[in-house]
Amino acid sequence: MNMWNPEIETMSRDEMAALQLKKMQWSVKHAYDNVAMYREKMQKAGVKPEDIRSLDDIQYIPLASKQDLREQYPFKLVAVPMKDIVRIHASSGTTGQPITGCYTREDLDMWSECLARLVVAGGGSAEDIVQISFGYSLFTGAFGLHGGWEKVGAAIIPISSGNTERQINIMRDFGATALVATPSYALYMAEVAEKMGQMDKLKLRVGLFGAEASTEEMRAELERRWGIIATENYGLTEVSGPGVAGECMHKCGMHINEDHFYCEIVDPETGKPLPIGEQGEMVITTLSKIGQPAIRYRTRDITRLIAEPCECGRKRIRMEKIKGRSDDMLIIRGVNVFPSQIESVLVGMKGVGPNYEIVVTNKGYMDYIEVKVELNDARLLERYGELENLQNRVRHALKTALNIDCQVTLVSPNTLKRFEGKAKRVTDLRTNK
Ligand code: ADP
Ligand code: ZN
Repeated sequence: MNMWNPEIETMSRDEMAALQLKKMQWSVKHAYDNVAMYREKMQKAGVKPEDIRSLDDIQYIPLASKQDLREQYPFKLVAVPMKDIVRIHASSGTTGQPITGCYTREDLDMWSECLARLVVAGGGSAEDIVQISFGYSLFTGAFGLHGGWEKVGAAIIPISSGNTERQINIMRDFGATALVATPSYALYMAEVAEKMGQMDKLKLRVGLFGAEASTEEMRAELERRWGIIATENYGLTEVSGPGVAGECMHKCGMHINEDHFYCEIVDPETGKPLPIGEQGEMVITTLSKIGQPAIRYRTRDITRLIAEPCECGRKRIRMEKIKGRSDDMLIIRGVNVFPSQIESVLVGMKGVGPNYEIVVTNKGYMDYIEVKVELNDARLLERYGELENLQNRVRHALKTALNIDCQVTLVSPNTLKRFEGKAKRVTDLRTNK
């Protein structure tokens, strides 16, 4: 199997740990010397950069929360003179005020190196014509993937997101073989391509998807509709953007670029590190970032690490698909529900389409959850018996998976909202939160 950087990707675990320790010591000192927030945090905890003598010693440094970083807006996390910064991005602001990300030239090189690895791992090569349908903007997704594909030598179509019929025409005319998008936009694009009757004129063979949570069921749906191999990648602005991790063609978790990112899993309640393999919140320390280092950043993303060897030969540790953001988790009548659990039930279920919406309300202390999902066939709306049957089936499947009762509303095909970037499928209208 092809690899972009076999030396790093197959480096033994011991050698990698030694490399990580050296880089961690550098990064912690760099942040301590140049970013007041990290220095103050460490001073308060009585930790000095010299105290980092093993990788585990990182746990003595306090965690940095999203709120901590927001307070440094816009440039108080920058660790070099502003003249050395060559790029400024910002997070999408999915959950509140955006966080800025500043890069030196070296940071941009490191970033595209990380992306080149996951492009090749996901089956991309110099032969590809890749359509990048992430928004080119402050958002890190498009520029991140762009850097990686460019390094690999593919021909890039920097089309950005939106104007979906035009996307499909360009994809056909330019003979795009690879697609970069959020899973939800890729799904919408597939619907449009089908409606335009163009699907069999397209040459897509691989899709690299990321920037939002999605399920195995959604992957299967995308692979089936487009006739591609779909891999997933992960990252966030706070530590650089996409490129923290990406899947190989075995699709069994995303290989982490461990020489640039040190990943820990902590208990989201207590912040204490958990043993490898346990589910918790991902905490990331950058090991190479110069312009804006991040030390023990709490991502709020829930996942687990996988240490078992991968068939592809890469020795880099993997992270499981993100289950959801800790702040996406709904607590319905005391039961924890991730929207991804609902997606798993709905996508691929016979009779209903893969688009859905979740609305949460309350009457006093009682929470109610409504799941809206589209019918595949509008004619069902006239066949009351069948409609009710289907509704009961969906409701039962949700109840089995979630352990709570949901109201199920079946709506006409193509009536729920479609997304060009990150999907927002949950509306929480509760007044008792
Ligand atoms: P925002 O947090 O405002 O959306 P970013 O644009 O930096 O900011 O997006 C980073 C976040 O996107 C991550 O913290 C994570 O929650 C989500 N994300 C990125 N890639 C994935 C993925 N493959 N699976 C699930 N979530 C992802
Ligand atoms: Zn692998």
